[in-house]
Amino acid sequence: MNQENGILYIVPTPIGNLEDMTLRAIRILKDVDLVLCEDTSVTQRLFKEYEITTKTSVFYAQTGLKNIDKIMEMLRDGNKIALVSDAGTPTISDPGVLLVDKVRNELPEVKIVSLPGASALVAALSVSGISSAQFIFLGFLPHKKGRETLFKEISESERTIVFYESVHRIEKTLESLAESLGDKRRVVVARELTKIYEEVIRGNAKEVKSYFDNNKDKIRGEFVVIVEGK
Ligand code: SAM
Repeated sequence: MNQENGILYIVPTPIGNLEDMTLRAIRILKDVDLVLCEDTSVTQRLFKEYEITTKTSVFYAQTGLKNIDKIMEMLRDGNKIALVSDAGTPTISDPGVLLVDKVRNELPEVKIVSLPGASALVAALSVSGISSAQFIFLGFLPHKKGRETLFKEISESERTIVFYESVHRIEKTLESLAESLGDKRRVVVARELTKIYEEVIRGNAKEVKSYFDNNKDKIRGEFVVIVEGK
């Protein structure tokens, strides 16, 4: 049994560009006893780049806490564990929050340490030119139930709205934004941030929609949508 208390590190990983690892993140991933990840092959790519050989274990916090008893036991025994997701900051529209909650509730002696690093949310806001003095983050929008009401709320919001969108729904979402906002508010779509085809499209909702209507090849990759407050 280990003498020290366990530590759970929340470690961000790049959202595209592998250089966006912090020195601390690399050190911690090398030092810990176990790295919990979403998909071993994604995490192994990163490990190869930085010569990290730490043992990994797949952890799906959304489909029930896989391995949770074992993880809690390891932390109780003083082990150091890092949580990563496929990209960006774990727990931000990603698995992990249930683990953090459980550890906070049941193992108060275990420190939970956040490493600052890549997150698509912050990266997109920082290049948008839209005020982030006050913003509301909606994560992923619902596919059906509550979707229409949400667009109405977005159109009435005085605060900046930020949300994540997938390639499958971006066109539909821009259509809804064009309907609910018309040409009144600025919209920014940040696509493929930190990657080769990174781009930031700005205009009113109709203009941004027509950009994608005219450039179907740009309906690819990962998107963050930002809508200026009223
Ligand atoms: N936890 C992650 C974070 O902190 O950025 C977010 C994970 S969430 C499952 C994935 C979503 O983040 C994507 O669907 C997309 O909306 C956004 N995203 C991730 N990487 C991105 C990138 N390089 N450019 C734009 N959006 C990105």
